[in-house]
Amino acid sequence: MKIYLTFDVEEWMLPEDYHVESKHNDNLEFAEKGCQKLLEILDRNEIRSTFFVTGYLAEQKPRLVREIHYYGHEIASHGYKHVSLSSLENGEIQKSLTNSKRILSKITRSPIHGFRAPNFSFCSEFFQLLLDSGYTYDSSVHPAIVPGYYYNFKEPLEHYRPLKDKPLLEIPPSVFPGIRMPISWIWMRNLGNWIARYGVRANIKKRDVILYFHTWEFVEMPKVKGVPFYISRNTGSSFLQRLDKFIKEFKDIEFGKLEEAAK
Ligand SMILES: [Zn+2]
Repeated sequence: MKIYLTFDVEEWMLPEDYHVESKHNDNLEFAEKGCQKLLEILDRNEIRSTFFVTGYLAEQKPRLVREIHYYGHEIASHGYKHVSLSSLENGEIQKSLTNSKRILSKITRSPIHGFRAPNFSFCSEFFQLLLDSGYTYDSSVHPAIVPGYYYNFKEPLEHYRPLKDKPLLEIPPSVFPGIRMPISWIWMRNLGNWIARYGVRANIKKRDVILYFHTWEFVEMPKVKGVPFYISRNTGSSFLQRLDKFIKEFKDIEFGKLEEAAK
């Protein structure tokens, strides 16, 4: 079993999610700065990961996407813009899936295999649309229970094929089995490394561990009035150090890119 670190590279839209005004909305610089610091840490630890990038960000920052790819990481799609798929019509979802794939593939000159839906939002025909768009795996079904956000009591914790007899693979992000509490990003940032550490131990004998973060988390985020404190808490170099420590703690376990798991 392996650990897969995954990073979402996106325009920072959180103030908008909380319906508050902020000059920091749609700021690609946070995602870019955090990413560059992160690339150094991953490289120093000789780890290759998966980066889910929005097509919109890639169009504005093609050099950043090429740099991530140059370091040996996998580039996958995070949709065209960071908008929940549940708010889009099927035709718009299809467009987001194909456009982001085309943009990322052109920039990296490589095929794009994976997809993650913004905010882990998906709809009933989502898997067929992914298959039609040529993706081989997805990592959007978060089998978590978080009041107000996720009520996924029954979704599998293991990799599975959501469309019978079709090759598309679903690779769900990891949670604590049983209570289905997430073990990544704000949980790790606010509660400490122990949550991810126990999360790995609770899963690794039975299944791969998939952790997810956002590259903006590795930049000190400004506090925005109306956005909960835990969104920006412990962002920046302190989180980068935490991640570095976490990686070193598990140096006996192999780290990988999701495209390898989907083969
Ligand atoms: Zn995202």
